[in-house]
Amino acid sequence: MSLFDPLGRKINYLRLSVTGRCNLRCSYCRPQGMDPGPGTEEILSDEDLLFLACTAVGVGIEKIRVTGGEPLLRKGIVSLLSRLGEIPGLKKLVLTTNGLLLAEMAGDLRRAGVESLNISLDSLVPDRFERITGGARLEFVLEGVEKALGHGFPRVKINAVVMQGINDDEVVRFASLTLDRPLTVRFIEQMPLHGKDCGPGLTVPGEEILQTIQGRYRLAPLEREDLGGPARYYRMEGAIGTIGIITPVSCHFCGDCNRIRVTSDGFAKGCLFSTRDVDLKPFLAKGDEGGLRNTLRSVVGGKPSGHLFLREGCRGEPVDMARVGG
Ligand code: SAM
Repeated sequence: MSLFDPLGRKINYLRLSVTGRCNLRCSYCRPQGMDPGPGTEEILSDEDLLFLACTAVGVGIEKIRVTGGEPLLRKGIVSLLSRLGEIPGLKKLVLTTNGLLLAEMAGDLRRAGVESLNISLDSLVPDRFERITGGARLEFVLEGVEKALGHGFPRVKINAVVMQGINDDEVVRFASLTLDRPLTVRFIEQMPLHGKDCGPGLTVPGEEILQTIQGRYRLAPLEREDLGGPARYYRMEGAIGTIGIITPVSCHFCGDCNRIRVTSDGFAKGCLFSTRDVDLKPFLAKGDEGGLRNTLRSVVGGKPSGHLFLREGCRGEPVDMARVGG
């Protein structure tokens, strides 16, 4: 069964946030003060997540990305992932992580059926990484990346949010990681999500990032991926891996949007920036599969044609990325 929105976009991708908690405090993502306090977080149970995921696959979802917060902090995450991976009809189960706990968990994640890992990493300079993340140690994440490669994940991607004057001098160094490793390094434009970083700001346009890399390496464009997201991919001459550019700010890619999101507290979103979130918990509580199917279809039916954020800048509500899951 396929799911299309009124604009004819095929919606086959669900981003599922399984916790709002995170062990990092990245300045551009969740500044201090947006945290759920200890013990106040309401998250869906494993049974609810599985029921939701099965129902979503039943209406046309083919790929699920487990995200957060930091998903590896969720108790029992490996067993939840294995159960998600067994859902008949699900073609791809993938995970986004900050990589801090990856070194110890990579083998279990692979055995649980996770096919591809996105690892967020914004600097290769230890003290800079510490500043951006609010105190994390770079070596743990780098070890996680190595372990992920060692455990044979078919796809390991590093996602770097590029910020003017903060890490934009590392673009070529990041890109060079793909020369001798089967890695994909993706550069993401920083979205100004909170009042304080709204100015002309930190965003480095994707075109500028590409030009910086082209100043050093010849780039060949690659085909778009099946079930892929909004990234444009390239290979540097002689490289084993690939690079990608994701441009939520400078370039509308909403015309190709294929996704819906469910927050860690059980609200469905037709768009990262939508404010009309739909509470799925009443349907989950009753085990009402028909109601849940109809609600997911109506969320897809209500998907906006484009980001409000792109039209109005960050005058809208601040987005808590960790609750939504990116
Ligand atoms: N903890 C996991 C991680 O670090 O990847 C998953 C959650 S995190 C919210 C998901 C993604 O959102 C990360 O790659 C992060 O860099 C990205 N993100 C958060 N805030 C962003 C912003 N303002 N602009 C662009 N990307 C952002």
